[in-house]
Amino acid sequence: MTLGEGNVVTIAGAGPAGLSAAITLARAGQPVVVHEAQAEVGHRFGADLQGLENWTTEEDVLAVMRSVGLNTDFRYLPGMRGVAYDHWRNAWPIESELPLFYLVERGPRPGSLDSALLAQALELGVEVRFNSRLKTIPSPAIRAVGPRAADAIAVGYHFETDMDDGFWVICDDELAPRGYAYLLVWEGQGTVKSCMFTGFKQEKRYVERTIRAFEELVGLKMRDPRPHGGVGNFRIPVQPFPDGRPVVGEQAGFQDTLWGFGMRHAMMSGVLAARSLLEDDDYNALWRREFGAQMETSVVNRALFSMLGNRGYRWFLRKATNVDDLRGFLRRQYGPSLLRKLLLPWARRRYRSVRKDRSCDHVDCSCVWCRCGGELA
Ligand SMILES: Cc1cc2nc3c(=O)[nH]c(=O)nc-3n(C[C@H](O)[C@H](O)[C@H](O)COP(=O)(O)OP(=O)(O)OC[C@H]3O[C@@H](n4cnc5c(N)ncnc54)[C@H](O)[C@@H]3O)c2cc1C
Repeated sequence: MTLGEGNVVTIAGAGPAGLSAAITLARAGQPVVVHEAQAEVGHRFGADLQGLENWTTEEDVLAVMRSVGLNTDFRYLPGMRGVAYDHWRNAWPIESELPLFYLVERGPRPGSLDSALLAQALELGVEVRFNSRLKTIPSPAIRAVGPRAADAIAVGYHFETDMDDGFWVICDDELAPRGYAYLLVWEGQGTVKSCMFTGFKQEKRYVERTIRAFEELVGLKMRDPRPHGGVGNFRIPVQPFPDGRPVVGEQAGFQDTLWGFGMRHAMMSGVLAARSLLEDDDYNALWRREFGAQMETSVVNRALFSMLGNRGYRWFLRKATNVDDLRGFLRRQYGPSLLRKLLLPWARRRYRSVRKDRSCDHVDCSCVWCRCGGELA
């Protein structure tokens, strides 16, 4: 569709995807109104610490963001050194000359990624309406309302601590089935989580084991622990462009299916959706060109990873931590290969997005993983 002059574009959702779309449209002089269901940005994350992944492109992710017009005026900590553990508690040092990721804060506080994107959008004249949950989407519009379903969950705590900055990971199905447990500490603030791809009903047990393991391994000490959790949604969308209204970010299923890193795809899909409206371009073609192959590879990687089990994770950690260039090694895991192409149909069958959890009737439901929210038409 072509945007007429003065046509106001509606964006549902002020997450990284929606705000990146709004910024891109506003920079081109297009009037934009963003509707955000909550009273603030990043509400579902509190002050969560998350990693802005920096291995899938040769170019640094912050440079990539700037190159598409997004400010990087948020606080960040380059993640270059950490430790991974296997089920047997062998320590595998993670080291990289260049950052593997940038630790950022999510949520509404000053200095967070969400606040920086919001500030840029507001400076450009974007109108953001908080406490405005859209029930239907007009046209032209972009749908950026976050995950639809729980394909993975990350559950644990936010806390204050005297521990030094650092990151630690444990690959162990007894702590985080088919996923990984992680501990991130930055300037006295921490998050500890079990990120699991199955076994959601037993989430409490996995979180308890995760806490205990980090206490024993690295002396985790939490002050004022606050429970926190969230869901992740992954799939390769077939048609994220109904009626010329692009669907972006996790609402479209865009996320690295292997590890659950979604911020980069969220921002990039927002930028591409905005461009598709501005330039009357095919959004499907744009996102496929930008990260379609990477999404497919990550589905294959996920299917393979979920078959590894504890011995397999140890094999993977040994391999990954014995290379000279870990960042390059990880990037190669996302590169196209004939084998991964051949495995894709199998991986897609094996790994299907869990669109609904049928075991929950939503009555008095307090679990972080089931779908209690309504549909957006
Ligand atoms: C615990 C946890 C840890 C994570 N860690 C990482 C990490 O380390 N690295 C990484 O890259 N990714 C991580 N992710 C994933 C990443 O946070 C998401 O992929 C990313 O935030 C998706 O951005 P989004 O804009 O698509 O959706 P969201 O950030 O969810 O934003 C969607 C917004 O839409 C609003 N909304 C919903 N419905 C409506 C409606 N009807 N009308 C108006 N507004 C609406 C919501 O309130 C929300 O603000 C993590 C996720 C979780 C849960």
